[in-house]
Amino acid sequence: AKGRGRNCAEFYTRKMGADAERHLMLQSAMRTALAHGEFELCYQPKVALPDGQMFGMEALLRWRRPGHGVVPPAEFIPLAEETGAIVAIGEWVLRTACNQLRRWHDQGYTRLTMAVNLSGRQFARQDVPALIRQVLADTGVPAASLELELTESILMSEGTAVTDALLQLKDIGVTLALDDFGTGYSSLSYLKRFPIDVLKIDRSFITDLASDAENASLTRTIILMAQSLHMKTVAEGVESVAQLSFLRRCKCDAFQGYFFSKPLDAEGVTGLLRDRRCL
Ligand code: C2E
Ligand code: CA
Ligand code: CA
Ligand code: CA
Repeated sequence: AKGRGRNCAEFYTRKMGADAERHLMLQSAMRTALAHGEFELCYQPKVALPDGQMFGMEALLRWRRPGHGVVPPAEFIPLAEETGAIVAIGEWVLRTACNQLRRWHDQGYTRLTMAVNLSGRQFARQDVPALIRQVLADTGVPAASLELELTESILMSEGTAVTDALLQLKDIGVTLALDDFGTGYSSLSYLKRFPIDVLKIDRSFITDLASDAENASLTRTIILMAQSLHMKTVAEGVESVAQLSFLRRCKCDAFQGYFFSKPLDAEGVTGLLRDRRCL
């Protein structure tokens, strides 16, 4: 029996692609990463015109894995969602981001907002409104200073649980943003049905605004639609002045991207806030 077990193991090892093997390694490393303090947050400013005011930050997760450098979130978040690890990780992100925002508020940047990305699995597996209430109470961050970025897939889940959760979140007073807008199976009826405050136009539309007439007209249409529904718009991935001036002409409300700043660690953001006199 022992021998057969080993043959099976060998068989699976051979059959497993390098990708699958890497996934298993990542999954087991992820189990201890939180306890070992390997996760970090960086923050990317959101900017409003005309004055270039940095009114908010988006918290973005980084995994500094010993011996492997920084693992990008696109690589481990889908796995964390599969295994359910995203629940504990997401809670850590929320607490860490709110603690950091508290510090910035205490330094005088009282109008600064913080956006945190939420995964659909968090809604499926835990009482998100209860968690938000708890974290706001623990950190002393005002509800109005917290924004939650949700993806369209969250809105597509069956039943009324998600609608209920989003209505509760609105009652608490946090802002709800729809992330990567335009990439999912967006149905315009969702926008009416859910209490969304902000549309974040996906970077894929912004990237070739200057050269692609269709993306330009889609972007313009998304902004007009958002305006008519009394939603704010944020453009992701703004890298050039050409993109910015187009978006500005369309009356996009806010911008995020390397043109203004890459995601920075907390210290880097503190420096930026000081230099730009954001008080
Ligand atoms: P996202 O929410 O759409 O975040 C924006 C991504 O675009 C970030 O990548 C950011 O670094 C990148 N970016 C920002 N400006 C520019 C630009 O001008 N040009 C280019 N090329 N890229 C830009 P990042 O940090 O690698 O995050 C990737 C995705 O991982 C995020 O996409 C989000 O979906 C997910 N993610 C990150 N942190 C968390 C988290 O704490 N929880 C959850 N559930 N998901 C997260
Ligand atoms: Ca986001
Ligand atoms: Ca996004
Ligand atoms: Ca995106």
